[in-house]
Amino acid sequence: MKEYPSTLVDMYEALPIPFGLVRYGVAPDHPEVKNVQNRFEEVANDSRYTFIGNVKYGEDLTLKDLKSQYDAIVFSYGASQEKSLGIKNENEYIKNIFSARAFVGWYNGLPQYRDLEPDLTCTDTAVVIGQGNVALDVSRILLMDIVELSKTDITEYALEKLRNNRIKNVIIVGRRGPLQVSFTAKELREMINLPNTKFHTDSELLKNELSTNIEIISKDRPLKRLMQILEKGMYHTSGYKSWSLKFLRSPHEFIAHENDDPSRPKYVRAVRFQINRLEGPLENRVAVPTGEMEEIETGLVLKSVGYRSIPLEGLPFDENKGIVPNYKGKILDNDNNEQPGLYVAGWLKRGPQGVIATTMNDAYETAEVIVSDIKQNKSMLSTDTFNATKQGSKAIIPILHQRGIRTVSYEDWKKIEERENEAGRAKNKPREKFGRVEDAMRVLDT
Ligand SMILES: Cc1cc2nc3c(=O)[nH]c(=O)nc-3n(C[C@H](O)[C@H](O)[C@H](O)COP(=O)(O)OP(=O)(O)OC[C@H]3O[C@@H](n4cnc5c(N)ncnc54)[C@H](O)[C@@H]3O)c2cc1C
Repeated sequence: MKEYPSTLVDMYEALPIPFGLVRYGVAPDHPEVKNVQNRFEEVANDSRYTFIGNVKYGEDLTLKDLKSQYDAIVFSYGASQEKSLGIKNENEYIKNIFSARAFVGWYNGLPQYRDLEPDLTCTDTAVVIGQGNVALDVSRILLMDIVELSKTDITEYALEKLRNNRIKNVIIVGRRGPLQVSFTAKELREMINLPNTKFHTDSELLKNELSTNIEIISKDRPLKRLMQILEKGMYHTSGYKSWSLKFLRSPHEFIAHENDDPSRPKYVRAVRFQINRLEGPLENRVAVPTGEMEEIETGLVLKSVGYRSIPLEGLPFDENKGIVPNYKGKILDNDNNEQPGLYVAGWLKRGPQGVIATTMNDAYETAEVIVSDIKQNKSMLSTDTFNATKQGSKAIIPILHQRGIRTVSYEDWKKIEERENEAGRAKNKPREKFGRVEDAMRVLDT
C-alpha cells in the first residue's frame, strides 16, 4: 500500500476474530507479546484495508472465486495441525493425552478446543514431550500461581479447571541433550523463577556436556546464556511443586490404565520411553537408541513436538516440508515454475518455526516480491493490474452471502471485542474471550 497508494487489501479469516496465534497461541501471561495487535489495528483502520471474517478458504471460498476478483493473492493460513509422534497407542482413545496445540488452544479460547475437557484432578504428575518454548508455556501454566493467572486474559472456563488443578510435578522430556533444547532464555528463566517450585535435571549429563563442548558454547552467546541459566537453576531445590528436564528419552508407547468397562474412558497411566545416547559432532548431534526402556508414570500427557500446515484447495504442497513451495514467497508449482499472482507468507511459507518478529520479516519479504513483480511487469492474476475491472471483496461478499455465510466486518469485530473487554473488566482481567463462534456472532444480533 506504501508503494502503490491505490492498492486495496482484503483479508479473509476463518474465524470472526483476527490475530491467529497471537491471540490463540501466545501465553496469557505474556501480554507484552500481544502488543503487535496494535500494529494490526493501524493497518485495519486504513480505508484501503477490509477485514472479512468468518470465511473459510477452501470451504466457503475457492481459488476460482478469488482469481476472478483479484490481481494477487497471499496465502497465510498458518499451521493448523500438530505433528504426530508415530508411536504405539498414539491413535487409540486414551483420556488425558493432548497435543500442546490443543491444550494451548483450550486455555486461550480457540473455539475448536472449547470442549477439550482435560482432567487436572486425576493426577499430580504431567509429562510434556518436547523441549521448545511451547512445552515451557504449557508447563508454566500448569504450575503457575492461580492468582497471577487470573489477572491475565486466560479463559474463565480454563481458570475454573486450573483452580482445582492437582498437578504438582511436570516432567519435560526431550530426545537429545541439554545443548539441543529449543526453548529460549526468557522462557527458561520464567520456569526457574516459578515460586515454590524446585527444579531438577540430570546434573551429571549437563556438567559433562558443558565441559566437553566449552569452546563451541563460548562462541554461541544465546546458547551460553541458556546454559548459565540452567546451571544456576540446579540450585533451586526447594518448593512443594517441581519441574524437571529429562534428556535422552524418545517416546515409544502410551500406556493406559486397565479398565474392563468399555463405557468408561481409559486414562493414561504412563509413557514408555526409549533411552538414547548422543552421537556425532555438536552441530549435528543425533539421538541413538541404547535399547533400554524407561516408563514414566503420569496422568496427563502433553505432546509438544511441533505444528504442521495442511494443503488447501488449488495450491501446490510440499508434503515433506509441510509448506506451500515458494521462492521468497512467490508460489512455485511442482516443476518449480512461478505461479503468476500467487504468494505465501507466515508459517505456511517457511514452516512452523519462528517468533512473531521472524514471521513479520518474512511477510515483508513477500510484500517486496509482489511490488517487484509489478515493477517488472510480471504476469499477475489478470492482465489489467492497474485497470479497476476487478472488484475484490465488493464482488466476493455478495457471493458469500448467497452461499449463506455471515461475513464479519472489522466494525463487527470491534463490537465483539468491546463485549469481551466489558466482560473482562468485570473480572479484573484484560478481556474475557468468547470460546464459541456462536457466542461471538450473537453479539452482532444485538
Ligand atoms: C503456542 C504458541 C505460542 C507462541 N508464543 C509466541 C511468543 O510468545 N512470542 C512470539 O514472538 N511468537 C510466539 N509464537 C509464534 C507466533 O504465534 C507465530 O510466529 C505466528 O503467529 C505465525 O503467524 P501465521 O500468520 O503464519 O499463522 P497464524 O498466526 O496461525 O495465523 C493464521 C490465520 O489463518 C487463519 N486460517 C486458517 N485456516 C484458514 C482458512 N482455511 N481460511 C481462512 N483463514 C484461515 C487462522 O484462523 C489464523 O487466524 C507462538 C506460537 C505458538 C504456537
